[in-house]
Amino acid sequence: MPIKHAPDFNRDVVPTVVCVNKSTLDLEVDFDRLVRALQRFLDEVFVPVWGTPAKLVKSKDPKPGCWHLVFLDDADQKGTSSFHDITYSGMPIAKVFVRPAKKSGEVISVTACHELLEMLVDPSAALWTDGPRGTVWAYEVCDVVEDDKIDFNGIQMSDFVYPAYFDMFRLKRGAKSTQYDYLKKVKRPFQILDGGYSDIHKKRGGVTTKWGSPEKKKHFQEEDRRYHRSQFRRKRHKSRGRQKSRRNET
Ligand SMILES: [Zn+2]
Repeated sequence: MPIKHAPDFNRDVVPTVVCVNKSTLDLEVDFDRLVRALQRFLDEVFVPVWGTPAKLVKSKDPKPGCWHLVFLDDADQKGTSSFHDITYSGMPIAKVFVRPAKKSGEVISVTACHELLEMLVDPSAALWTDGPRGTVWAYEVCDVVEDDKIDFNGIQMSDFVYPAYFDMFRLKRGAKSTQYDYLKKVKRPFQILDGGYSDIHKKRGGVTTKWGSPEKKKHFQEEDRRYHRSQFRRKRHKSRGRQKSRRNET
């Protein structure tokens, strides 16, 4: 059966996300089981909140015209340089770099879930939203709760924020509170949990990263975050010209 895919980022077609495992390392979860769990997590937990459905399919190789979730050993893996662009043939792509993720103590299923959810909400990693005191926040749904995990039928998934997390009006005194993340750990909009972070654009000085705790900052700075979607966002925001030439190199 031909794969039905979105010709663009249009929301009138449910995108097919092709899951490709090019990593030679142990993911610590069977790949088939992981893809099935991610699909169920979308259908039962994430899509009812965000309304961003997707059909996950497994494949040995990428398929032009589809969205992708790709597992690689690391940013320098041989023969996979085409994955380094933010899109594959102009389509959204999310990457999981298994070696650095494991090195920094991440659970691969959680990292995969994190990247997938953020891609579905912001396919081109380009959305920003108004925050408190004239700041502008990256519209990422897992970063601020990055270290908080959900046990989903025995496979760990990532906590994520709800749309209300970005509601400025809920910061006003007396405003009605609501649920801000799946695990109900976040108590107000624009709160960063201890194990989270966010990229924030201030009125002056460009984009800075704000961490939920000093421990998170230390841990984060030790990680290899090259080619993460958030890195592209940061580069693009600082200097569009440079980013363009860098993309041509990859
Ligand atoms: Zn993220």
